[in-house]
Amino acid sequence: MCRSIADGGRRCPGTGPAKSDTPLASAPKLSRVGVDTAPPSTASPPTSPTPESAPSLNPETENFNILLTADPKEWLARPWKLRKKIIEDALGEAVEILMEHPDVKNEGPGYVYDSAPTFDRWSQSTTTLGKARLSYYTAAPHRFTRTIELSDKRGRYAEPRTLAILLAHELAHTLAPPSAAHGETWVKMFRLTQAALQVPETSTSTHTPTDIEYAAELAAAKKKRENAPWQGTCPQGHAYARGRKPAGRYSCRPCLEDRKPATITFTRNENRGGGKK
Ligand SMILES: [Zn+2]
Ligand SMILES: [Zn+2]
Repeated sequence: MCRSIADGGRRCPGTGPAKSDTPLASAPKLSRVGVDTAPPSTASPPTSPTPESAPSLNPETENFNILLTADPKEWLARPWKLRKKIIEDALGEAVEILMEHPDVKNEGPGYVYDSAPTFDRWSQSTTTLGKARLSYYTAAPHRFTRTIELSDKRGRYAEPRTLAILLAHELAHTLAPPSAAHGETWVKMFRLTQAALQVPETSTSTHTPTDIEYAAELAAAKKKRENAPWQGTCPQGHAYARGRKPAGRYSCRPCLEDRKPATITFTRNENRGGGKK
C-alpha cells in the first residue's frame, strides 16, 4: 500500500511526500470527539449527569443492561472481541424494544421505514464513535433502509455508559427522517430512545472522552509506540515510532521550525513485546 517497487517506489498519498513530522510527545488529537459528524453543540456545556434514582432495568435487555451498569474499568479490561459482541447484542435488543414502542409504531417518523434498523459494521473511523445511515431505495423513494455503524478504533476505549448513550443517539437518528440532523425531531426521538432503554439523562449530541477513556486510549497508544518495530529520535530527543522501516530521510518538524538540526535517526526496536523474540 505504501510503496510499490513496480512503479519506482512512488509514495502513496497516505504516507505523503512531506518528510517532516511532529513528535510523539505532542498531545494526541482526541481531546474532543463527535459522536457523529455533527458540529459540536455550543448550546449546552458538557455535563456529567448523575441519575437521581436508578430505574429498575428492563429484564428483556440483558446486554443493554450490561452497558448501563458495568464498572468502566472492569469493562475496559475485558477482551474487545467480547465487548463488541455485547454491544451488537445490546443494539439488537434495543431495536426490538423500539420497534414495539407505540410511538414508533403509530406516530413516530419511523413509520416511513420499511424495515428495522440493523447493525452494519465496525468501521475504522477514528473521528466518530458511531454513524447512522439512512438511505432511499431509488426505485421506491418512500422506502428507506437504516443501518448503524460503530467505530472499532474508538469504541474499544469507550466506557459502557458512553456506548449506551451512543446507541440511543444513533437509534434516534434511525427513527427520524434523514433531514432531521440534531433538530427538534431528533431530540424528540432521542428522548424516546432514552426513556425506552433507560439511558440516563444527557443533553449533548457530542461526546467528550471521560478521564477513564482518555487514559485507556493513551495507554494503548503508549503500548503501541513502545512495541513499534522502528524507533526514532531527532538530535534534540523528540521521539518517533514507525511500523515499517522508514524509507528516506525524515525531519523533526518542531526542530525544523526552530532551525535546529532535525534529522530523525531510526533504529530497529530490539525490545519489542517486553524483550520477547
Ligand atoms: Zn447524531
Ligand atoms: Zn526534534
